[in-house]
Amino acid sequence: AAQITTLNKWYGSHHVLRDIDLTVRSGERIVICGPSGSGKSTLIRCMNRLEEHQQGTIVVDGIELNESAKNIDEVRREVGMVFQNFNLFPHLTILQNRTLAPIWVQKLSRREAEETAMFFLDRVKISEHAHKYPGQLSGGQQQRAAIARSMCMKPRLMLFDEPTSALDPETIKEVLDTMIQLANDGMTMVCVTHEMGFAQAVADRVIFMDQGQIVEENEPRTFFSNPVTERAKLFLSQVL
Ligand code: ATP
Ligand code: MG
Repeated sequence: AAQITTLNKWYGSHHVLRDIDLTVRSGERIVICGPSGSGKSTLIRCMNRLEEHQQGTIVVDGIELNESAKNIDEVRREVGMVFQNFNLFPHLTILQNRTLAPIWVQKLSRREAEETAMFFLDRVKISEHAHKYPGQLSGGQQQRAAIARSMCMKPRLMLFDEPTSALDPETIKEVLDTMIQLANDGMTMVCVTHEMGFAQAVADRVIFMDQGQIVEENEPRTFFSNPVTERAKLFLSQVL
């Protein structure tokens, strides 16, 4: 579903991604972890071109990400992204948040868009809140709404950037359950998260980043029980 080859990115003179090679196969679930500032968000933001890279190639579903505006639209149709802070429009209801992109980007009719939206709101168990505004929902409900919004675009790849880190412990579970359900449905997922239980339960591979590099990569059981690098050992001793 995605191939990243010798990716390098700088912010000014700050070299934030160094020779990243990563292949995400269709249906694969990848968890990215690592210390703050290691480049996790930058990496997944490059995958739907919220950030541009300077060297290397990124191919998502056969589309190479480059300066061409046409490619960006194509990729955004294929790739859903869920952020830490929900990114719901506060002045639109949950349902309207769901139907905006399908109507404007995908040119669906309102009826079609609303039917799809209600289907996915039901999947994340918040259809009864469809006509409320984001501010009237709990953090966990808002995050599930944000996931449902991405699902309405029927993405082939879902990117998550610490979707639970702004939530309290009880609501974290609701959101993780929603993500596990998505994984069980076969969605291709790349998740930046420090929820190691989630990583153990659903990840096919864990990628550990430090200072802009992938320093370790393994299936979760081995990564957690037998990290190879000192850096990963230290990191795990702090988060587990
Ligand atoms: P965290 O766990 O804290 O979210 P992260 O691994 O996601 O960290 P990034 O946000 O990818 O890290 O940041 C990688 C590096 O790039 C950091 O040193 C950060 O300060 C820098 N950086 C991130 N965004 C920008 C930006 N827009 N302009 C300049 N530097 C940036
Ligand atoms: Mg980040």
